[in-house]
Amino acid sequence: MRILVTGGAGFIGSAVVRRAVADGHEVINLDALTYAACLDNVAPVADAPGYAFERADIRDREALDRIFATHRPEAVLHLAAESHVDRSIDGPGAFIDTNVTGTYTLLQAARAFWEAQGKPEGFRFHHVSTDEVFGTLPGGAGSPERFTEDTPYAPNSPYSASKAASDHLVRAWHETYGLPVVLTNCSNNYGPYHFPEKLIPVVILNALAGKPIPIYGKGENVRDWLYVEDHAVALLTVLTTGQVGRSYNIGGDAERSNLDLVRTICAVLDRLAPGEAPYAELITFVTDRPGHDLRYAIDPTRIRDELGWRPSVTLEQGLERTVQWYLDNRDWWQALQAREGVGQRLGLKTVG
Ligand code: NAD
Repeated sequence: MRILVTGGAGFIGSAVVRRAVADGHEVINLDALTYAACLDNVAPVADAPGYAFERADIRDREALDRIFATHRPEAVLHLAAESHVDRSIDGPGAFIDTNVTGTYTLLQAARAFWEAQGKPEGFRFHHVSTDEVFGTLPGGAGSPERFTEDTPYAPNSPYSASKAASDHLVRAWHETYGLPVVLTNCSNNYGPYHFPEKLIPVVILNALAGKPIPIYGKGENVRDWLYVEDHAVALLTVLTTGQVGRSYNIGGDAERSNLDLVRTICAVLDRLAPGEAPYAELITFVTDRPGHDLRYAIDPTRIRDELGWRPSVTLEQGLERTVQWYLDNRDWWQALQAREGVGQRLGLKTVG
C-alpha cells in the first residue's frame, strides 16, 4: 500500500513509519516538524526505497493538494497533532488549530483527492486518536469498568476535547460524504523515541541525573500502557483489515497507578544502571494537574476478536527494552533536552 502518514517524525508516527517500511509499504511521511518532531526517529528508513519525506502543515490546504497529487496515496494514516496534555492546559489554541482545523483541512484534501479518483473503495482515511476522549473511570487498576467503542465521549482536558472534536469530524465525513474512514482510540504509549517531556522518559532521565522524580498528586491516577511498536502493528492491522466506518479501541491490558509504574521503572533502572541508592528514593509528589482524569482503561475485545491483534510484550518486558534504549541512546535525548523551551519543563510538567 502507498500510505501518507501525517506526524511521522513524532513518537508514534515514526514507529508506524519504521514498521510500515519494514512491512514493504510505500510511505510518504508528512510532518511540519514542530518542537515534538525529530527526523532522527526515522533515520533507520530514510534511505529505503519507497520512503519520502514532505515537510508540510496539515492546515495548509495548498500544500496538501500538491502532496496528494504528487504521491497519489492509497491511504492516509493521520497522527499529526499537538499531543501534550500539560501544554494544552497552558495554551489550548494550538490544539484547536492543529487537531481540529488541521484534521478538517486534511479531511477536505483527502476527500477531494478520493472523489477525483472516482471514489476508489479501497481508499482509507485512518484517524489515530486517544482513549482520553472518553473522560475518566472510577476505581483503581483492574476495576471492572473499561472503555468500549460505545462509551459516550466526555473529554476533560483541552487536548482530549480537541481530539474528540476531530474524531467527530472524521465520523461525519464518512456519514455525510462516504469517505472510507477507520478510527482508533488508544491508551498511553511508551517506548523508544518517546519525547523527554513525557512521564516515562522524565522518570528515566531524572533518575539517571539524580534529580527528583515528580509524580502528580498521590500517584493514584491509573493509566493503561501500550508498547509503541505494538501500537504501530495495531494501526497497520486496522488500516489494512479494519471495517470501514468502524472504530477500534487499542490497549495493552496493562493498567497501573502512576506510583506503581514509576516504582517498576526505578526497579528496572536499579538492575540495568545501579546507582548509589535505590532510584525510588528520588520519588517526589507534586501539585496535581487541574482536571486530572483518575483512570483510563481500554477494553480491547473488538480489535482482538475481529482482527486478531494483541500486544506482543508485557509492560515489564516493554519497560526493560525502553530503559535499555534510553541508556544506549543518550545522544538522541540530550539533543532534544537542549532544545529551547523543552529543558525547563522537564520535571515540572510531566504526565502525558
Ligand atoms: P508527538 O507529539 O510525538 O508527534 C506529533 C507529530 O505531529 C510531530 O512530529 C509534529 O511535528 C507533527 N505535527 C504537529 N502539528 C502538525 C501540523 N500542524 N502539521 C503537520 N504535522 C504536525 O505525538 P505522538 O505521541 O506520537 O501522538 C501521535 C498521535 O497519536 C496523536 O494524534 C495523538 O493524539 C495520538 N495518541 C497518542 C498517544 C500517546 O500515548 N502518545 C496515545 C493515543 C493516541
